[in-house]
Amino acid sequence: MLEASPVRAFSDNYLWLIRAPRDGRSAVVVDPGDARPVQAALDEQGLALRAILVTHHHPDHVGGVAELAARHGALVFGPARGRMPCVHRPLDDDDEVSLAELGLEFRVMAVPGHTLDHIAYYGHGALFCGDTLFSAGCGRLFEGTPSQMLGSLDRLAELPDDVRIFCAHEYTLGNLQFAATVEPGNVDVLEALEAVRALRAQDAITLPSTVGRERRINPFLRCREPSVRTAAEAHAGAPLAEAAEVFAVVRAWKDGFR
Ligand SMILES: [Zn+2]
Repeated sequence: MLEASPVRAFSDNYLWLIRAPRDGRSAVVVDPGDARPVQAALDEQGLALRAILVTHHHPDHVGGVAELAARHGALVFGPARGRMPCVHRPLDDDDEVSLAELGLEFRVMAVPGHTLDHIAYYGHGALFCGDTLFSAGCGRLFEGTPSQMLGSLDRLAELPDDVRIFCAHEYTLGNLQFAATVEPGNVDVLEALEAVRALRAQDAITLPSTVGRERRINPFLRCREPSVRTAAEAHAGAPLAEAAEVFAVVRAWKDGFR
């Protein structure tokens, strides 16, 4: 199983440090928004940074890229569509990231919505999805349309149930509180809410999640479920014909949810 450990940064970001399966001494980091905690984790674990994977251009995901790449001579992979500085290997949908000497290989999935350049990395039964999919939630639509984001989430939801999901933020508790408002009868949501509340009371991480779990608890992956549609229609005060309309209502509802 792929070994990835979270590096905490800012108020609630997770920068994921992947240990190379082939030699156990090399590492790859996903979305290093801040170089300092990544360097501290590398030092602590005795790892050499060999590559950097970037999902999208937001500063809390790229802030440490230049410094880490220069310091370690690490190869930087990132979206081809973005306004991204210092990307050595620009990537688009269905491209492969092959780091054979580290024993790592990922398939790139274009997942526009949060931003238009957003990509996710899938491999070794793991998904690094940046700010597209969170546990029990999804990213805000800064650049894309609801139907773009729904299309992206649908693709992620089609991955096998046991794929582990490494999200970029600790948003799970707030997301589940919202999910329980949308689907008060969803027992999986209520159970997850209790478990996550206990974890967060100890400041423990709630990730990774899995695709199977998200299909049960994430309202944004459940826009075609009658319970979510009915709740969205009640919130909108109008019938909603398409899943993308349901998604748009639930996303806007979440934006204003406290
Ligand atoms: Zn972002």
